[in-house]
Amino acid sequence: MGNESVLCTVCQGVLPASGREAYTSLRGRLIVTNGYCAGGCAERRGERARLAQQSQQQEEQQQVRPVAPVPPAGPVRGQQIPVAPGMSR
Ligand SMILES: [Zn+2]
Repeated sequence: MGNESVLCTVCQGVLPASGREAYTSLRGRLIVTNGYCAGGCAERRGERARLAQQSQQQEEQQQVRPVAPVPPAGPVRGQQIPVAPGMSR
């Protein structure tokens, strides 16, 4: 019996024990070194591949949009300070 039956082929983590006989010293060592498999690795790998494909397609579809030029600000006129009435005696 090799490690292949104990380890997840995707994340190399230790798969959940299928039975009592699965709890071996080798398995214990592998849990320490590799940790547990979180499960669903095969599905996650497939999902990741699918998402990667999708994002690639999106990148191809998405065209580079030209950045809209910022309209130049008009000449700033000097602020007119209103003269307060009734200040002079
Ligand atoms: Zn795994």
